[in-house]
Amino acid sequence: MIEITVPKMHLVCTHCNATNRVPADKLQAELNCGQCHASLLSVHPDNLGEAAFNAQIAKSDLPVVVDFWAPWCGPCRMMAPAYEKVSQDMQGHARFVKVNTEVEQGLAAKFNIRSIPTLAVLAGGREIARQSGAMSATDLMRWVNTVLLKINSSTSQNGDNHGRA
Ligand SMILES: [Zn+2]
Repeated sequence: MIEITVPKMHLVCTHCNATNRVPADKLQAELNCGQCHASLLSVHPDNLGEAAFNAQIAKSDLPVVVDFWAPWCGPCRMMAPAYEKVSQDMQGHARFVKVNTEVEQGLAAKFNIRSIPTLAVLAGGREIARQSGAMSATDLMRWVNTVLLKINSSTSQNGDNHGRA
């Protein structure tokens, strides 16, 4: 008998902020939060408050894509359907969230957001990339994929270099 150990990942529920440990090969499936039973991989990008945002950044093993926006911003509203589509297409590869900068002025200040929309990708608690201005679904997908590749290659490089001078 061969036992296969599937690595576990930490996912943070955007509804109750509970950290869930889930098998890494189940990220394309329907997963529900163990605490509040909401969908863990909601493909609809949620607007997060500061506490939920910080929990997501600190504890999620999945890279987090953030759309800093505001309701009065025309280009932001125009980009919303593209953002939602890419969120769906990339389920299990990254979590897409939104921060309403009008409501969450603390987060906007912390991230030094000077124009909107501004998109950022965060992984391991750090900002990896940032892009200002509205993007089409195609451009957004390409940009996020490029950033994810960069994140993955730096992770595996660290593993490869283990024990070397
Ligand atoms: Zn929950």
